[in-house]
Amino acid sequence: MTTEGEKGGDASAIGVAVVTGAGGGIGRATALELAARGYCVGLFDLSEEAAEATAEQARWLGGSTLVAVGDVASAIDVDAAVAATAARFGTLDAAVACAGIEMAGSAIKIDPDQWRRAFAVNVDGVLNLARAAIPAMSPGGGAFVAISSDAGVTGWRGCAAYVASKHAVVGLVRALALDHGRHGIRSNVVAPAFVETEMTERIFAGSEELRGDYEALIPMGRFADPTEVARVVAHLISPEAAFTNGHVYMVDGGETAGLHAGRSEPPPSHRSRI
Ligand code: NAP
Repeated sequence: MTTEGEKGGDASAIGVAVVTGAGGGIGRATALELAARGYCVGLFDLSEEAAEATAEQARWLGGSTLVAVGDVASAIDVDAAVAATAARFGTLDAAVACAGIEMAGSAIKIDPDQWRRAFAVNVDGVLNLARAAIPAMSPGGGAFVAISSDAGVTGWRGCAAYVASKHAVVGLVRALALDHGRHGIRSNVVAPAFVETEMTERIFAGSEELRGDYEALIPMGRFADPTEVARVVAHLISPEAAFTNGHVYMVDGGETAGLHAGRSEPPPSHRSRI
């Protein structure tokens, strides 16, 4: 199902982008950042209400929007959203795969259905967007960005499906970069550490101590604001990043700079959860 934003007349737009997970968190921040920069934006989310709320904010910023509702795990839903965005705005320049889900549990303990759901959303969701969006981009060029995670480049305890799926996103995007770079389509990963979103609120619900332990792992001593991630996405899809392809851009306050200093033990307050 799709609905269109009120503002038409896109002659002044600097580009057309589709963003999954645009109803919340990093996806919402990305959609708003792109709208503010003059993009027409297709907003895709599971929740129509949440996507409409983003669209409303984007219109305040002067952006043109189209809302599409569905599940990124469904190629049919994603195809429809991309087709509707390209049809509404006449072209497609960029696609940003933000939709993703957290999933707790070690590889031994996790329910197989939860494992499959993590991969369906976090990996198939990115694949579905790439398969729909890249062929819709003009031969002159385009840009694809997927949000992976620090868990896509390092191991984390107690969330095997999340870690494995986010590593898969990095591999998938590197493959896209190699396969489509010669056609002017650049593909990159943004890999944040913890970001102040609804997902992070759920993960640390009721445990300020646990949250504090994880903040202490970040050299900058805090989690990211979603806008700080969105601005990197906006840079990567812009002409400013015209020769950046197949890159994994850490937005982690320096967390992974300490990777080789050793982080083999989780914070004490996390051990009981594993
Ligand atoms: P969030 O706050 O939970 O927002 C995710 C948005 O995506 C929500 O609007 C959600 O809709 C939507 N969504 C979830 N599953 C979907 C599906 N199957 N199809 C379509 N839309 C779906 O998450 P976030 O923190 O912004 O995370 C965005 C991405 O960044 C994810 O890939 C996540 O793994 C990654 N990431 C997050 C962090 C972090 O600390 N937050 C760190 C590193 C990487 P509903 O609310 O209706 O479910």
